[in-house]
Amino acid sequence: MLIRMLMKPLLTFLSLVLVLLGLVAPAWADFALPPLPYAADALEPAIDATTMTIHHDRHHAAYVANLNAQIATNPDLKSLSLEALQTQIGRFPVAVRNNGGGHWNHSQFWSVMAPQGQGGEPSAELLAAINSSFGSLEALQSQFNQAAAGRFGSGWAWLIRKPDGSLAITSTANQDNPLMDLPGIERGTPLLGLDVWEHAYYLKYQNRRPDYIAAWWSLLNWNEVNRRFAAAA
Ligand code: MN
Repeated sequence: MLIRMLMKPLLTFLSLVLVLLGLVAPAWADFALPPLPYAADALEPAIDATTMTIHHDRHHAAYVANLNAQIATNPDLKSLSLEALQTQIGRFPVAVRNNGGGHWNHSQFWSVMAPQGQGGEPSAELLAAINSSFGSLEALQSQFNQAAAGRFGSGWAWLIRKPDGSLAITSTANQDNPLMDLPGIERGTPLLGLDVWEHAYYLKYQNRRPDYIAAWWSLLNWNEVNRRFAAAA
C-alpha cells in the first residue's frame, strides 16, 4: 500500500528529472564517439576486424577525447555542432582543426560503408549528376582512385557537391575536409570521403594503398551517399 502511494509522486519526480536532463544536456554535452553502425568484422574481407577495432576504438576515440580537451580553452566549442564547427574551423587553433576534423571525417567514414552487398545502388538522381559531371560512374571511380592513391602522406579523398551543383573529386591533407573554411581547400558538401591514412589499411595491405582503395569500393554504402546527395541539393 505504501509503495503504491509513493509510486505516483516518485514517477512524477523521475519524469521531471528526465525532462530537465533533456533540456540542459545539450549545452553541457561533450562531443561523443558514435558506435560503429555494424560489427567490427562486418566489412571483412575488404577491411579486417582488427583494423576496424583499432581505427574506431583508439584512433577515432582519441580525436574525440582530444577535441573535448580543447573545450576548456575554447568555450565556443560548447555551442557548436560538429558540422557547424567545420565551416568555421579557421578561427580555432590547429588542435581543434586536427581533432574536430578527425571526429567529423571518421563519423562520415563509418556511415558511407556497409557490409558487402548491403550498400544499395546510386539513385537515378545521383547517377544523372555523376554522368553530367564525370561522363560515367567508371570515370568518377578512376578519378577518385587517382586522388586517393596520389594523396602524399596522410589524408582523405572526397566526392563533393560544389555550390554550383556540380560534383567533383578532391583530396585533403591530414584531417582537413571540404567543409572547412581554410585556404587551399576546394569547398563543397562531402558526399563520401575515403580515409587513406596508413592506420586505415596498413595491417592488411601494408604499402599497397591502391589494393585497399579497390577493395573499399565493394563496401560503399550508396544508400547513405544518395541521402547525402539529396540533402545537399
Ligand atoms: Mn582514420
